[in-house]
Amino acid sequence: NNCKKEEILKKAKELEVEFIHLQFTDIMGVMKNVSITIEQLEKALNNEIMFDGSSIDGFVRIEESDMYLRPDLSTFVVLPWSSHPKEARLICDIYKSDETPFDGCPRNVLKKVLKEAADLGYILNVGPECEFFLFHTDEKGEPSLDTHDNAGYFDLAPVDLGGNARKDMTVVLKQMGYEIEASHHEVAPGQHEIDFKYADALATADNIMTFKMVVRIIAQRHGLHATFMPKPKFGINGSGMHINMSLASLDGKNAFYDEDGYLKLSQTAYNFLGGVVKHAKGFAAVTNPTVNSYKRLVPGYEAPVLIAWSASNRSPLIRIPAKRGNSTRIELRNPDPSANPYLALAAILKSGLDGIKNNIDPPEPVISNVYHMDELEMKEKGIESLPSNLYEAVQALSKDAVVKEALGKHVSEKFVDAALYEWYEYSKYISEWELDRYLRKF
Ligand code: GLU
Ligand code: MG
Ligand code: MG
Repeated sequence: NNCKKEEILKKAKELEVEFIHLQFTDIMGVMKNVSITIEQLEKALNNEIMFDGSSIDGFVRIEESDMYLRPDLSTFVVLPWSSHPKEARLICDIYKSDETPFDGCPRNVLKKVLKEAADLGYILNVGPECEFFLFHTDEKGEPSLDTHDNAGYFDLAPVDLGGNARKDMTVVLKQMGYEIEASHHEVAPGQHEIDFKYADALATADNIMTFKMVVRIIAQRHGLHATFMPKPKFGINGSGMHINMSLASLDGKNAFYDEDGYLKLSQTAYNFLGGVVKHAKGFAAVTNPTVNSYKRLVPGYEAPVLIAWSASNRSPLIRIPAKRGNSTRIELRNPDPSANPYLALAAILKSGLDGIKNNIDPPEPVISNVYHMDELEMKEKGIESLPSNLYEAVQALSKDAVVKEALGKHVSEKFVDAALYEWYEYSKYISEWELDRYLRKF
């Protein structure tokens, strides 16, 4: 890797980079950043940059706080919006002072599950669909809930005021090496989606984190506030982060495709599906980690509620898009963009692998629109619902040994503590809805 190091040093010099942001993600999915000057870059590339882990949410106690940042050299990129002095970034893994990977680093968590998949002969490929809202800001730069936009799905300018911002986001992402497959207005006013090409799970998780950063920064430059909050407004669609995934065998072939299989899906695909269905309740706290996440997962807004799968219908948890051959994939529809992408992909993959290792069969597919299914019909078919709030989700996670193993002891404990704290804080709060409903009535 020595050569790569020299290349980065050379490139940074040529491009007149002055600052390098060493980035990593905390357990809650928030990007953190240690910035260094160009003079320190060589030291950083030698894994010698230290930071205090005790100051990061959910990391470590004061007494064991010396952590090292190990840049992933393949993630070096100049930030296109930095003018002078130029800035670049490197995404890092967190290592302990004894030079072993730190269990609390979400990127390390994902790498561990990817290794397990590789040992079984698989690589996970993931294509995400990140949705977000663009809201106007007030005179103080504070976000509002106004969109001044009444456009809908696939609408064009001039109705779509966020269109210009979205165009700039696309340009910047392309400069950073993204291949943008689609970018469009979503169903709700002010709601947008930009889709980039699938990649292996680790690259995709990195891409999602960078994507969110780019979208926020470019929105701000247009006087807009971008939010990945799952359900910012009552009565309209929320924002999802659908996860399209497939396993590739080590020879590059799509392991989900089988010319002769039912629906042309392989046994591997069905077992993966079976595992995902089995652990859907258990990983919901990870893929839908906020109190607000569960306000999106209600009937009528294109978000899933029931744990079912379908070859075509978009209402259940899992859909199998029509493409076959090398593009064969399954689309998981419950994750939302408030999820930590490293932990979410680790939990989903581990669930799928559990299905493969233990030959778990998925339930029968559903054909009808599952929003219209009544409780009795659901019971007869044995279809269950996703957790209806963060508390239920955390309970389900606590009971799911497979998902907990995916996260590891350190992360699952911190994660459960943080989610419960969040839930209890929320529970104490008295909402507008309650006041409207009860203040006069009682
Ligand atoms: N916004 C919808 C959701 O919450 C998804 C719309 C779509 O199918 O793209 O998941
Ligand atoms: Mg969409
Ligand atoms: Mg989709």
